[in-house]
Amino acid sequence: MDNRPLRLRFVTSATRVAQLPPSTAEVAFVGRSNVGKSALINALANTKQLARVSNTPGRTQLINMFELDGGGTLVDLPGYGYAKVPDRIRKDWPEMIEGYLLEREPLVQVFVLVDGAIGPTPLDEQMLDWLRENTVPHTVVATKLDKVKSAKRVARRRDLSAGCRLDPADIVWTSASKGENIDLLRDLVRSHLM
Ligand code: GDP
Repeated sequence: MDNRPLRLRFVTSATRVAQLPPSTAEVAFVGRSNVGKSALINALANTKQLARVSNTPGRTQLINMFELDGGGTLVDLPGYGYAKVPDRIRKDWPEMIEGYLLEREPLVQVFVLVDGAIGPTPLDEQMLDWLRENTVPHTVVATKLDKVKSAKRVARRRDLSAGCRLDPADIVWTSASKGENIDLLRDLVRSHLM
């Protein structure tokens, strides 16, 4: 297993898929705002710098693209669920995200982040339904594992996977704070890009 930190270099921010430079292979990270996406990407890279890039005012609603040393690219998509009264993702989520997910040719895998302590939320379920309907390859990554008490973990794993309509074994449980399974996720990202 190659668990060295991912060496990521910020390439560009874009509002439309057509503005993105070509890539040999790309993975994308998506999730509800506050799910822990910035913390997780920072943990993968073992830095705090990337989140600073993504969280620059005005950039949180953009597609942020990073190049991985060794080949391929990683895309940080805007968090969904900002709207006060979210109804359907289709309505609340910028068209650019759908465009990206449907049209980005080098895209090989989408990592869908779900809050391990509280997820999946209805928005997460809609997101997963949409990805399935459109046959976009994806993996569910549960975040903030450290927030789930040991005694509750079995039940929480079962509930989260049932909510996602997945087998518990198909979900990658992580904690950016404690570094749990970050090595596994690094290896998974590399396996898709190289
Ligand atoms: P984003 O909006 O998805 O980019 O989420 P952030 O990475 O900014 O994290 C949102 C909040 O969750 C922040 O207060 C983080 O400190 C917290 N958080 C993120 N990852 C973890 C984790 O692994 N464990 C715990 N306990 N908190 C986390």
